[in-house]
Amino acid sequence: MSKFQKTRAGINLSKMMKANYMQQAEDVKQGKFAVWVGIIVPIEILRGFDIVIGVPENYSAMSSAKGLSREQCEKAEAMGYSMDLCSYARIDIGNNLGPEPDTAIPPLPKPDLLISNNSNCTLLLKWFDVYRHEYNIPHYILDIPFGYEAQKKQDTQYICDQFHDMIATLESMTGQKFNISKVEEAMDNSYEALKHWKRFLRAGESKPAGITAFDSFVQMAPYINMRGTKDLVDHFKILADETEERQRSGIFPMPDESFRLLWDNIAPWHQLRKMSARLAGLKANIVCGTYTNCLGNSEGSADIYPYNGSSPIEFLARIQNFPICAYGLDLRYKVLKELIERYQIDGVVFASNRSCKVYSIMQMDQERKLRDELGIPCVSIDVDHADVRKYNDANAFVRIEALLENIEASRKN
Ligand code: SF4
Repeated sequence: MSKFQKTRAGINLSKMMKANYMQQAEDVKQGKFAVWVGIIVPIEILRGFDIVIGVPENYSAMSSAKGLSREQCEKAEAMGYSMDLCSYARIDIGNNLGPEPDTAIPPLPKPDLLISNNSNCTLLLKWFDVYRHEYNIPHYILDIPFGYEAQKKQDTQYICDQFHDMIATLESMTGQKFNISKVEEAMDNSYEALKHWKRFLRAGESKPAGITAFDSFVQMAPYINMRGTKDLVDHFKILADETEERQRSGIFPMPDESFRLLWDNIAPWHQLRKMSARLAGLKANIVCGTYTNCLGNSEGSADIYPYNGSSPIEFLARIQNFPICAYGLDLRYKVLKELIERYQIDGVVFASNRSCKVYSIMQMDQERKLRDELGIPCVSIDVDHADVRKYNDANAFVRIEALLENIEASRKN
């Protein structure tokens, strides 16, 4: 983390995210229509309108990374929201509807419309419904079929039909005419950005790795809320170019790397700095994460789904199952196995996430399959991606150190 803050990409990231937020706040002040969307909603389609797009999940992750999650969660809990609910929801609800909004990260500008989907989980729908009631605005829900196998043609069509209906809804609410050329341009930008993103991630394949997964956790933020923009293309190009330059110059985040690990689940936002420093002390590098690898992929694949430039709406429907949570055990295992081989992984850390049950639910089955079929050491640790109160550093590291001992023992056999 600290290394990245001094890089061109680190400096550019902060500048770009801040400028984007300020611009959005100004645009809403000037009367622009604002939409809040779930993380998987294809915002490239929304670029066909002149509107402001806010992503509450991104906001909650940033709040947690800045150490604000405890008080924001507590505000929601004081209002009666259970501690068992996803911490992203509690942070966001606490800050938007609690007694005093945070000044360090002010809440997103208020929306006119909510758009969510059930690709990842159904909790998101209930979370957005809180705002539907509170702000008395519509909530548009996209229904995405779960992926037990490759997405069927009729499912792609079913999703496309919903996208067209969403466009019609936006036309009638904003009074604007949908501009498909803007969507084509946005999709070209997203695809270009994704290619640079994958080039950046590939730096993790070398020994020692050119990045840590913590670098990728930090740098993925603008993909969530700035997809489709030229700024994102430029940023990911800077990131990939700079990472490759550093590798060529022999600069590695962990030159004495002894253990190459894979992280399965959402990043522990409140622990990025502490956990990466502690792992460095153990010469253990998390070189790859399922969470950051899945961007732009289709279900069960470790690579970007190819886009030929001809039909952005259909392409975006086809990749609606890209997050790990949106598909079943066999496909999840296929991706894990591919990443383990590609990144020459010595051991897997399954982060069992108290908030994101959908990401965590199949981990024990995956762990068993990996042990049986690949004989690779694995460990499960308890985390919560955003609520610091549900993480215990000592417990996590006792297990991680045991994993490293297992890896060492397996090397001797
Ligand atoms: S439970 Fe998981 S998928 Fe659902 S909103 Fe929370 S982090 Fe996202």
